[in-house]
Amino acid sequence: MIYQRSSQLFAEAEQVIPGGVNSPVRAFKGVGGTPLFAKSAQGAYLYDEDDNRLIDYINSWGPMILGHAFQPVVDAVIEKAKKGTSFGMPTELETQIARLAISMVPNIDKIRFVNSGTEACMSAIRLARGYTKRDKIIKFAGCYHGHSDSFLIAAGSGLSTFGVPNSPGVTQGTAKDTLLAHYNDIDNVKALFEANANEIAAIIIEPVAGNMGCVPPAAGFLQALREICDANNALLIFDEVMTGFRLAKGGAQELYGVTADIVCFGKVIGGGLPVGAFAARNEIMNHLAPLGPVYQAGTLSGNPLAMAAGLAMLETLNNDTAVYQRLEEKTAYLQQGIDRVLRENNIVFTINRVGSMISVHFDAHPVVDFQTAKNGDNDTFKKFFHGLLQEGVYIAPSAYETWFITDALTYDDLDFTINAVAKVAQTL
Ligand code: PMP
Repeated sequence: MIYQRSSQLFAEAEQVIPGGVNSPVRAFKGVGGTPLFAKSAQGAYLYDEDDNRLIDYINSWGPMILGHAFQPVVDAVIEKAKKGTSFGMPTELETQIARLAISMVPNIDKIRFVNSGTEACMSAIRLARGYTKRDKIIKFAGCYHGHSDSFLIAAGSGLSTFGVPNSPGVTQGTAKDTLLAHYNDIDNVKALFEANANEIAAIIIEPVAGNMGCVPPAAGFLQALREICDANNALLIFDEVMTGFRLAKGGAQELYGVTADIVCFGKVIGGGLPVGAFAARNEIMNHLAPLGPVYQAGTLSGNPLAMAAGLAMLETLNNDTAVYQRLEEKTAYLQQGIDRVLRENNIVFTINRVGSMISVHFDAHPVVDFQTAKNGDNDTFKKFFHGLLQEGVYIAPSAYETWFITDALTYDDLDFTINAVAKVAQTL
């Protein structure tokens, strides 16, 4: 596979864009080499600027659950664009997508649309703080909730309770209100509530983590968080930016039967356009401006092109009663195939999967939290990534990302991928 034009375009981009990219993980820093530049995409395939065809397992990091250039979404955007691209006035379309989203997701009465997952999570914690009149939040190490200050906090050590900023520019003042816990460790969460009685506004969690590879919640973990929040008058925020409309119509709330107080969305809900959203019951959402005092706004929020794309996407997912079953079956097939060929080649690995989120970790032990995710052999991952790329299979350029399976994949694509993994496994 030749990357000549991508290399040239990357060199040009580096002159005018920091690191040549508008979002860091695109730069291949974790795996080395030159990022590919996309030219077009259709269904399960990406085409780069050197006209290589790749089977896509990133799918724009989640949104393209029905494949690239999905016709109903493309048509909806084109039709809307002809009538104006932004008004800064309410449109009927916003009510239509709001109504549909509320009907698909359990336990929400109102939803507000924003422009990214970051904005959704940032707004959700402001709302939680405004509603509870408390300052502190609990987040889990290895969970990502976007790049707003409160979330750019990593554990200084396993024992650290107060967050340490892990980006310059995040102040200590902000970091001190973010308490860190270990994913799947309920005792850790209990201890934080004991040490910070009546100070914790909310727990925010990826109900299935997807930013340390895919890490499922342990049995009963989400329910236990629900109970701790209830006992302490704190809110439970599910960041369903990845899981929303992906794991089920109603996301992780539906899949695990656990109710969150605020739910954040992104990715699938925008059909590939810049959309995020957060939602809750009336008593919480009515605290938002203009009804209540918690301020949140956006010039382009509810943008007609973005809402048209999102509505076309959600309508399709809502009407296709078999889509989540197909995604489950395709991803299970992929998992079994990869499991088989890696085993045949005596590779040490663990595969984690929930529905259409799946990740391969090069470590023999269960991956249950950030610490165990970090035990994976990164050198093997790099070889795996570049080997698959050579075979025309594009997975995320980082060991800490989940693969997002699209319904556009055929079983031939999956067999092709499993064969590619078999070939690459011989080189690991
Ligand atoms: N939450 C989760 C769980 C995410 O995976 C992401 C992005 N990958 C975000 C929030 C932030 O979303 P965005 O990149 O749209 O700001």
